[in-house]
This record gives sequence, C-alpha cells and structure tokens, in this order.
Amino acid sequence: MGQTTLARGRAAVGAALFLSAIGGCASVQSSGGDAAICASDAVRVYADFPAAGRHDCIIAPDGAIIVTVDHEPSVEDGINPSPWFALRLEAQAAGRHTLVLDYPGYDHRYSPETSTDRMSWRALDTANIALSEDETRATLTLDLAVGDNWLAGQPIVSSREQVEWTRARLAPAGFREVEYGRSLQDRPLIGFIGGNLDAPDVYVALTRQHPPETTGQDAFRGLVSRLVDRDDAAIESFLSRHKILLAPMANPDGVDGGYWRLNRGGIDLNRDWGPFTQPETRAITDWILRETEGRNVIAFMDFHSTNRDVMYAPPLDAPSPTIDFLPYLEQRFNATLAAPPEWSYAHNENSGTSKGWALDVLKAPGITVELWDETPQADAERIGSVIADALAAYFAE
Ligand SMILES: [Zn+2]
Repeated sequence: MGQTTLARGRAAVGAALFLSAIGGCASVQSSGGDAAICASDAVRVYADFPAAGRHDCIIAPDGAIIVTVDHEPSVEDGINPSPWFALRLEAQAAGRHTLVLDYPGYDHRYSPETSTDRMSWRALDTANIALSEDETRATLTLDLAVGDNWLAGQPIVSSREQVEWTRARLAPAGFREVEYGRSLQDRPLIGFIGGNLDAPDVYVALTRQHPPETTGQDAFRGLVSRLVDRDDAAIESFLSRHKILLAPMANPDGVDGGYWRLNRGGIDLNRDWGPFTQPETRAITDWILRETEGRNVIAFMDFHSTNRDVMYAPPLDAPSPTIDFLPYLEQRFNATLAAPPEWSYAHNENSGTSKGWALDVLKAPGITVELWDETPQADAERIGSVIADALAAYFAE
C-alpha cells in the first residue's frame, strides 16, 4: 500500500510539473504570496485552515480540479480508511466545475458536504458523485457560488470551535474549565468539571480521539445539551449527586491537521490507553484518575463514528458495580428511538482502548458510542439526549 501511495503521489507531482513546463496558459499551480494549492482563472483551491485536509492539486487541461487526499504520517504501515478531505474553493464567478478526489490506495468513504459560509452544510446530491470502479477516485460535479465554497467529508468543526461550543453550553451551568495537559504540538487539552464536585460518584465522557468522527461529536453534544437544558427534579437530582467530567476534544492536533485517524505522534490514541506513549493519552488518564480518586465511576463513554450506530460495551458479567446500567440504557434506546443502535458486548484485554481501560482501571462500564458516518445530526444528538435521560433516571436515586 505504501509503495502504491508513493508511486501515485509522484505521478501527480510529475503531472503538475509537466503542465507548468508546457506553460498551460489557463492554470497555475500556485502564485507568489497566495496559499492556493492550485488555481485556474476561474477557481483557486485552498487547504490552509484548521481541519483542512492534506491535499495537493492540479488543474487538468479540461479545467477539472484534481485533488489528492493524503493521510498523516503513521508509525504503522497502513491506516484506518477514513480519508478526510476539506477544501475551500474560491470562484471568480458562479458556475459548474468538476473536481476529482484521488485517494491513493484507499476507498472513498465520506459523502461530500458543501457550504458557502462554513456554518450551514448540505450533502452533495448523489447524482453529482461518480466513483471509479475501484472507488479510489470520486468525480464530483460542483455548482460553485461566486466567492468562498467549502467542500468537506463532514461539516468542519476545528478544535477551537468544538471547545468554544462546549464552553458556551457548560459555563452558564456552572461547569469549571480546566487545561488538563498539552498536545504534542502544544495545543491545550481542555476538560470541563461540573455537577457536585464532592460527590462520591463520577460520570466521564469524551470525544474526537479520531479526527473525522463528527457524528460521534454530534451525539456528545446532544448529551451535553440535555444535561444542561433539561430542567426537572430527575436531572437536578442526578447533577447534585454526581461529579461530571467532559473532554470535548481529545486529539486537537489530529483534528486541526486534517488527520484521518492518528495524533501528531503517528499513533491511534484509542489504542494507546495502556501503552501511554503519547502526551494526549497520558494527560487525559492522569486527569481522570486525579478527579476520580477514591470515587466510583458509574459510567464512561467515548464518542466515535463508524459504518453504523453501535454501542461497544463490556460483557454483562464484567466486574463492575454499575454494569446493569448497560441493559437499562439498551432498553431505553429500544423504547425511545425509531432506529435504536446495535449493541456488542465484549472485552479485549490490552486492546488499548479507552473502554477497556475504563473497565480494567476504573471498574466502570465503558462504552464506545459509535454513530454511523451518515447519521443525521438531529438523530445523533437524540442518541446523546437519551443517554442523558437514562443516566438521570437510573442514577438519580
Ligand atoms: Zn473512532
């Protein structure tokens, strides 16, 4: 796979040089003082913002924009196939353009989303997406507006935006913000602590260990919103009897670097809860251990995305005093959701996942909460909201 990637990468660079050498009059690969990665008279292409993909591009003789989609440096050969792309296209005039996403050695995964303001997004119509037979190239037909057009695998949420969103929800509810560490590239690792800080029972949730997994983040946000918005005796009782730890951005370097899976150290952080080779996993576990010392962790949830809605939970005979919360939550999902998530109950020793660590070290029922890549935002938020309601109902007394 590495070999193929290199060869294809070189071919793209070679084509770019060849085009400039023959002096294609309608296109340049970049111009002085401008960070465009390629440009024609009609469109300039940028990947210079937080969470932009790792792209190079050229303009084909027919005007098509050819974009390579690369992954971050990885310690191990091969990387989880989550080819993230995010670009800004600046158009001189409104018009229709062809853009090819070239995934060297990997398959197209994320259905393209488009935006003109980076805030509201819409899925590109499937009629405007054509995949090559081996699915390693996606040809998109884009109707660009004059000015900025954003194209990405999911709505773009940078590390700063996710922390700001969480702060805006939690600060008014009295949550305290802490910097529990720094990432490898020295970005702040931010957590929030709320509820009853002296309570003997603690609930822990985190998200964005894996950068493109934003539907998991949507569910995390649904949980946060429900915890602070719901105003009744059950939630009040839950918050008054529990300390709450929330980590909204576990891998800021990966998110802002447009990574597919890893941190800046080239490691999958959700395989590092055990080896602890990276500052992000060391910092978050030190923080959780400090804040939960001498207390019970009633539940631990880590929000992700995959090819379906599924809860990865430990077996129901696992040695945890609150393991029975899991079938209760499953039943709440089944009773309240039109399309409840699947459940998978298993524990792999030394897997290095946060879920395994939560069970082994905290004796807490840890769940990897996985949302389908394509789960609509409202449905993902609803799953988070049902989790909050289930916590309140089960643990309020
Ligand atoms: Zn994940």
